[in-house]
Amino acid sequence: MDRCPLCRAMLNGADTCRRCRAELRSAQQVERDAQALVGAALHRLAHDDTEAAGPLLRRALALHATPDALALWRLVAVSSRRPR
Ligand SMILES: [Zn+2]
Repeated sequence: MDRCPLCRAMLNGADTCRRCRAELRSAQQVERDAQALVGAALHRLAHDDTEAAGPLLRRALALHATPDALALWRLVAVSSRRPR
């Protein structure tokens, strides 16, 4: 999280916004959890396990939907529909 989601001030790694004093530790943890789920999904895909990657990506998107996670989810969805 580069900017405060409330006032858009730059955070520079801080977990409390210097401008509006919002405490962002919980939100940052949710973002990290979502990134970890995307990482786990990539790991499963590296082992050709699309079935396991799908649910991990859905959980990641529910926590924090990034364009990268959404693109990966779309690829997994298309790939899982394709006959092997
Ligand atoms: Zn702020």
